[in-house]
Amino acid sequence: MIYDVIVVGGGVAGLMAAIEACSSNNKVAIITKGNLFKSNSSMASGGINAVLDYGDEDAIAEHIEDTLKGSYGLGNEKSITTLCKNAPHIIQKLSYYGVEFDKNEKGEIAQRSFGGGSRKRTCYVGDKTGSAITQALIKRAKSLGVTFLVNTFIMNLTYRGKRVSGVIALRRFDSSVVAYLAKAVILAGGGYAGIYRGYSTNASDYSGDMLAVALRSGLALQDMEFVQFHPTGFIKTSYLVSEAARGEGGYLINSDGERFVDELSTRDIVSRAISKEMEEGKEVFIDLRHLSQEHIEQKLPSLYKSAYNQAGIDITKELLPIKPVAHYSMGGIQADMTKTTMSGLFVCGESAANGVHGANRLGGNSLLEAAVFGEIAGIDARNYIRNKELLPIDYNQVIKEITLVDRIFDQETTKNFNAIRTSLGNMMFEKVGINRDEESLTNAFSYLSYLRSEVKSLHCVNKERTNNVELISILELRNALEVAEAVVLSAQKRTESRGAHHRSDYDDMNSEMSFPMVVTEFKPNFFRVGFEKNRLVDSLRRFIKG
Ligand SMILES: Cc1cc2nc3c(=O)[nH]c(=O)nc-3n(C[C@H](O)[C@H](O)[C@H](O)COP(=O)(O)OP(=O)(O)OC[C@H]3O[C@@H](n4cnc5c(N)ncnc54)[C@H](O)[C@@H]3O)c2cc1C
Repeated sequence: MIYDVIVVGGGVAGLMAAIEACSSNNKVAIITKGNLFKSNSSMASGGINAVLDYGDEDAIAEHIEDTLKGSYGLGNEKSITTLCKNAPHIIQKLSYYGVEFDKNEKGEIAQRSFGGGSRKRTCYVGDKTGSAITQALIKRAKSLGVTFLVNTFIMNLTYRGKRVSGVIALRRFDSSVVAYLAKAVILAGGGYAGIYRGYSTNASDYSGDMLAVALRSGLALQDMEFVQFHPTGFIKTSYLVSEAARGEGGYLINSDGERFVDELSTRDIVSRAISKEMEEGKEVFIDLRHLSQEHIEQKLPSLYKSAYNQAGIDITKELLPIKPVAHYSMGGIQADMTKTTMSGLFVCGESAANGVHGANRLGGNSLLEAAVFGEIAGIDARNYIRNKELLPIDYNQVIKEITLVDRIFDQETTKNFNAIRTSLGNMMFEKVGINRDEESLTNAFSYLSYLRSEVKSLHCVNKERTNNVELISILELRNALEVAEAVVLSAQKRTESRGAHHRSDYDDMNSEMSFPMVVTEFKPNFFRVGFEKNRLVDSLRRFIKG
């Protein structure tokens, strides 16, 4: 199967990329591992940040400044400026594609407050913003003739020398391994907060497949130690209580009935404050009782229903108990805007690390990142493929994947992938969570080595090749363990506290560590980890001065 451009991922980043790549009659396919509507993008609730007026340079400068400040000195000024300057145009484009943002009394797009923002700039569709955007983009992509290959799991890239030639995929339908040829590939496969299974707002299959694929293809990962914990998830199900709830006026209170933190501080600050209350044995709640029922039903309809259905709580009358949960991963495949070190390979959205968030991300900036850099990746790929021929596939690479799948099917096992996946989640939350230290990270590393040896002897109990979800879960788990190791090693090396990375044994920020951390695989299963010292980030100097 041959395409001009293959996009891996059907979230906002992948859809925007495909729409742009498609615009000049190119043959474009989007590949997703599940169904098309299953992505973190379609779960995004609270909103997307943007200054709406192109001409309001002061307001755009403030958006840039807030984002730089939120990045704790690791933000890349070029990426951040691109993000914020493109925001007004992105909202216009999304509206043109059919997204009906909520309006204020004057009939203009309404905007709400989000943490870390110095003014209201989050545009929204109730608390279903991501789903509204995703649906409009799917409609647009379909109308342009983009092919959708769903339930197709990308195992690896194929390449010749330093140029990409396609992808190798496993079709869920019959567990067959197939190669798709393409002149350019865009990776938009989302983040890795799902490795914190049981403590994450992400579905557990958001475990960073594309990052593991990138490592195996010789690419570098960056900023892996920075995993954002969202302050407010349901206690039992980790369902997200969107920042919109605090943006609309919700308070956080402890079991003594006291407010203990500025609810609209950045997520790292609020999460640590909650964690401290919990360590002192207190429960923490979000209090929305002072808001009118009408306001809650209108602005937070999903939360209203989910609190009732999942926790049996009427938020108009009762306190809702919450806990911090892993929510977003700042780390990803190292990129200069959308370009990687492999020709023809582009990255965008949560799987990319181009310094747009640095050590922390502002709420509402990631849907924006997905849309802005998705659009740029599509344009970059479209430009790249002009006058390019397809490269032949190296069938040795395909045979390796077929052999792996056969091995997972053919042998017997007494081990259960689900138990290993759950152990990984528990361990990551406990030892590589909101607070880490040398001892917890050393323990995490040795536990990971044990899990990696266990996973090698995992095989399918169910030998049926049709629709075998167990096979895909085993492949995901192998990827998740590689990604987890990159997180632990980066967190170990960063002996300071900065943004979402808090070391209880190194409480302060160390200006000598104001460089992105980079992980590469120098031979199978061996990682090299270090600061990228050559790239002193401009914003860092501003951060230290400011
Ligand atoms: C509950 C929740 C609420 C959120 N709310 C907000 C918000 O209000 N505002 C905001 O700015 N951000 C929010 N976020 C974050 C934001 O939704 C994500 O960062 C963003 O949508 C990521 O978009 P993406 O396109 O990069 O990836 P995703 O939307 O995660 O899509 C990833 C795609 O990659 C595909 N994929 C992954 N691995 C493979 C593989 N091996 N083979 C084939 N396909 C693969 C998946 O099938 C999927 O289609 C929220 C996140 C969550 C979880």
